[in-house]
Amino acid sequence: MSEHGIHHVTAFAGSAQRNLAFYTQVLGLRLVKKTVNFDDPGTYHLYYGDETGRPGTILTFFPIDHAAPGRVGIGETQETAFRVSRASIGWWTHRLIEKGVAHEALEQVFGEPVLRFRDPDGTMLALVGVETDTAAPAWTGGGIRAEHAIQGFHGITLLLAEAAPTAAILTGVLGFRETGREGSSLRYAADAAEGGFVTLRAVGGFLRGRQGAGSVHHVAFRAGDDAAQEAMVAKLTEDHGLAVTEQRDRNYFRSVYFREPGGVLFEIATDVPGFAVDEPVDALGGALKLPAGLEPHRGRIEAVLPVLALPEAA
Ligand code: ZN
Repeated sequence: MSEHGIHHVTAFAGSAQRNLAFYTQVLGLRLVKKTVNFDDPGTYHLYYGDETGRPGTILTFFPIDHAAPGRVGIGETQETAFRVSRASIGWWTHRLIEKGVAHEALEQVFGEPVLRFRDPDGTMLALVGVETDTAAPAWTGGGIRAEHAIQGFHGITLLLAEAAPTAAILTGVLGFRETGREGSSLRYAADAAEGGFVTLRAVGGFLRGRQGAGSVHHVAFRAGDDAAQEAMVAKLTEDHGLAVTEQRDRNYFRSVYFREPGGVLFEIATDVPGFAVDEPVDALGGALKLPAGLEPHRGRIEAVLPVLALPEAA
């Protein structure tokens, strides 16, 4: 198996209800899984993505009411960008205005139009207009027509002191190759072109980030299966001398974690088994799903989680 690229991105948020409303109603993503943080079951873990939550479309959050805001700095993900049709960038500009979401002036980055904005917690996001010949499968939520819908990640931008040590992991282990340089930014793509850009911004001595609401906690990269993941772990430990966690079962994928040399927390997540493992595709995100080990505590868990009103699936 040689699937490479971004699997998912996980960030911290404040209010779960506000987070849900923004990602499903403003951006039109699908809530593909409503579960809890397996390491802290009193907190939701909300997954947004396309219809089935394919790897490369999944943005997830740990929402904590009244969480202190984070501050972006080196050793962190600065921006998470989604792909839309180039012809839809104007439409999105109007939509953000209509929904009261402040945005920056349109910029050209690596030859593509980039519309930058933030979510209600300050998470830095962007929509990047790309030429789309074929209609990629997308979820048409929030009353957004298919032609305008978000088609998954365009990529992420990491803020680093220097690029080379992180680049060595991207190219040596994670299946990326350099595709461009612009100013202090280096861009890398995975062979599976969709959703695969990682841009490294080397800024030298700069403040380190402080994690909080609006911060990206980690970025996960794809491994087709356990064997592919194992091979990547062997390279990390043997070729790069990095410490990697034991594999953890996240129900929808199996994960290992490591701190890459630039300070960003990376994860390698398997494509299997996916989100339909505990509820049918039609019903994804509808019910609170718990891993078997937490099921006996469902009553207590539900009692401490804030009530979430699911917006209408448009
Ligand atoms: Zn993760």
